[in-house]
Formats: sequence, structure tokens, C-alpha cells
Amino acid sequence: MEKPSYRRILLKLSGEALMGKQAYGIDDAVLAGLSAEIREVAGLGVQVALVVGGGNIFRGIGTNRDFGIDRASADHMGMLATVINSLALQDVLERTGVTTRVLSAIEMHAIAEPYIRRRALRHLEKGRVVIFAAGTGNPYFTTDTAAALRAMEINADAILKATKVDGVYDRDPMLDPKAKKYSRLTYLDVLRKNLKVMDATAISLCMDNDLPIVVFNLTKKGNILKAVLGERIGTVVHGGK
Ligand code: UDP
Repeated sequence: MEKPSYRRILLKLSGEALMGKQAYGIDDAVLAGLSAEIREVAGLGVQVALVVGGGNIFRGIGTNRDFGIDRASADHMGMLATVINSLALQDVLERTGVTTRVLSAIEMHAIAEPYIRRRALRHLEKGRVVIFAAGTGNPYFTTDTAAALRAMEINADAILKATKVDGVYDRDPMLDPKAKKYSRLTYLDVLRKNLKVMDATAISLCMDNDLPIVVFNLTKKGNILKAVLGERIGTVVHGGK
């Protein structure tokens, strides 16, 4: 039996990860594939928490758009987008036989439990997959920061940050074929070189609390399991010790 390297993980999925080849929204096949992989990992006894972004539906900033909506309101809209994604993930996971709970940072009793740290821990101990919805509940943050915050709060062993490329590169590998991949990096390297791993707030939080980040390619089937088993895929961001 394969032995996981982590007892409890926080898996961060961007909203775009749910989109597949579509330009917007949620792709059923991608969701089904993801939930099968999460099920496999949870089946090994690993406690799994998820944070999903909302960029496949709405982002507060960053996409060359200006709807003339106040930033805080736009961010609230973005957080609601993460709730939509969380409910979609919950449904598909439950259909594959995984027990889940959605805990929302913005209270909406009819569809999700409110985020209560101790409750989240209890669900994880009982083997339920916990989906943290609505980011941090505050505007001017991102779901990367929400992932770092929740990972700390639940004492996760690592953040698994899913991306579309094989790890962290010195340049964008989609634009430059000579881009070099790092297998290990310190938090300070990421901040100093302004590498695109997570935003600076999220990286600083991880640095202050020495929480490793495993950056890996989600589009390769089986990679979530490999990351959990500690196989050398992607890039590990750590404190340098
Ligand atoms: N958001 C926010 N506070 C949070 C988390 C998210 O205001 O704590 C908003 C913000 O507008 C962000 C949007 O929700 O642009 C969607 O989240 P994010 O951009 O992190 O999603 P991803 O890029 O991972 O799909």
C-alpha cells in the first residue's frame, strides 16, 4: 500500500482549472476527473481540504475589464463565484461517494455551513472532504491567500497548488521554450524574483508559518496522488532549511 507523505493537505484549485478548454464556466468532464483523483487520495486516509478560485466565472480585478463596479463589490461577486464552484465540486464528489462539507466564509445558511475552524477540523478528522468557499470573506484578497490562511488554521502539512504547467519556471514556459524549471525554491526566492506561484500575501503567510507549497501540473492525470505520495513532481517552495 502506498504511503502518503502528508496526513492533511490543502489543495488549491484555480477557478480556471474547472473550465477545461472552455472560455468560461465549468466543464463536467474536468470536474469528474478531478473528483476521481480527490477520491483516490482521500481513500488513502489523507485528510483533504479544498479551496477553489472563481476566475472561471468572475474576478474582482485583473482581466482588463472595467465594469465600473466598486472594487469591494466586484470582490464580493468574485467570492460568490467561488461558492458556485464549491457547490459544483461538492456535488460531483458526493456522486462519486465522497462525503463533503462546504464551509463558507460568507454566511449563506441555506446552501453551506458557516466557516467555523473547529467544525472544519472535526469534519477532516471524520474523513470528510472540506471545501472552503467564499475565499477569506474579505475583499482585496485572493483565493491563494484564503488557501494559505485556511491551511494554517487547519494545521495542514502542505498546500498543493494546482497549475497548468509542471511547476515554477524562471520565465513563462508557454512563451519561452528555454524557460528553466525549479525543483525547489525558498519563499524569499519567490518574492525576490517575483515568480508566479501565489500572490505575495499568500507567500508571506506561508513563509511566516513555514508551510510548504507544492506547485504541480493538474492537467496531468494522477498528479494529485503523486504529489501526496511525495513524488518529485513540480516545484516545492519551502523555508530553505
Ligand atoms: N476574492 C476576494 N477575497 C478573497 C478571495 C477572493 O475578494 O478572500 C475575490 C476576488 O475578486 C478574486 C475573486 O474572488 O478575484 C476570485 O478569486 P481568485 O481570483 O483568487 O480565483 P482564481 O484565480 O483562483 O480562479
